[in-house]
Amino acid sequence: MTSSSEGEILQVGQVIRERWKIKAKIGGGGFGEIYEATDVQNHHERVAIKVESSKATKQVLKMEVAVLRRLQGKKHACKFYGCGRNDKFNYLVMSLQGKNLADLRREAPKQCFNLSTAVRVGIQILNGIREIHSIGFLHRDVKPSNFAMGRTSQTMRNVYMLDFGLARQYLNAKGEIRSPRSAAGFRGTVRYAAVTAHKNKEMGRQDDLWSLFYMLTEFLQGQLPWRKIKDKDEVGKMKEEADLVVLLDDCPHEMHLFVAHLKVLGYADTPDYVYLESLLNKIVAENEISWDEPYDWELG
Ligand code: ADP
Repeated sequence: MTSSSEGEILQVGQVIRERWKIKAKIGGGGFGEIYEATDVQNHHERVAIKVESSKATKQVLKMEVAVLRRLQGKKHACKFYGCGRNDKFNYLVMSLQGKNLADLRREAPKQCFNLSTAVRVGIQILNGIREIHSIGFLHRDVKPSNFAMGRTSQTMRNVYMLDFGLARQYLNAKGEIRSPRSAAGFRGTVRYAAVTAHKNKEMGRQDDLWSLFYMLTEFLQGQLPWRKIKDKDEVGKMKEEADLVVLLDDCPHEMHLFVAHLKVLGYADTPDYVYLESLLNKIVAENEISWDEPYDWELG
């Protein structure tokens, strides 16, 4: 074993359930590890496999499987191919997507997307968030690396939502909103987390949308003012005190209306997804953006 493969759950060449042959590790480090594999029983179709060690203290793959299964048939969900467990690991097999939006932004000139790319990707992410909310779950870790573009000619202009490891049900079995806990541990990623999360409060649907707002702002501005700050409390304070006129300098006016709507929402409120999408669609119309024009990374 080479030192780089030490501690990795799967090895290249390994075949799971006589069906999925591991080709390469493509991600991970958080809760699980992601591998590319091929389906030897189905024309060597390329798939993604997320694995979690059976010894992991925090077992989240079961939640991921439950959420992904319920999302089947939705536009922004990966296809679910299978799951299982043995004494060493738990695994989830799903469709393989292309690059995630964090990598695509980092590869872009000036680390920004143009308005056309940012707003069209933003509308798709908003719809992905609406889909997960529609099945009664919050994502709670909305950030660029948790969204990927498709990989095939049919899917490459579609955005896919990844990673349901921090998802939480906000509806009970009766379809009512669960009562909020008075204190909840911080969940998510400091750079994109809503102020609610910084305050260790129960997150609601609007908090996934706050994370989308921070993502969109970063896509347009190339950076967020708290990008270099690690301290969670300090970043929370910066978000609370942020001057939106400065934060959104040169951004379309609708971004102010977007955040103004988020500001009036509390834990139990249903966000007005239609209004938020209409704001982003207005940016598309006002700037004469066409849905068919290339995304930044499609330009030669
Ligand atoms: P973790 O929970 O360990 O953070 P994620 O599910 O967020 O794992 O995946 C980490 C990275 O792996 C993603 O940012 C993405 O680049 C890649 N990845 C995850 N799922 C897929 C997939 N279905 N297809 C292609 N790449 C994926």
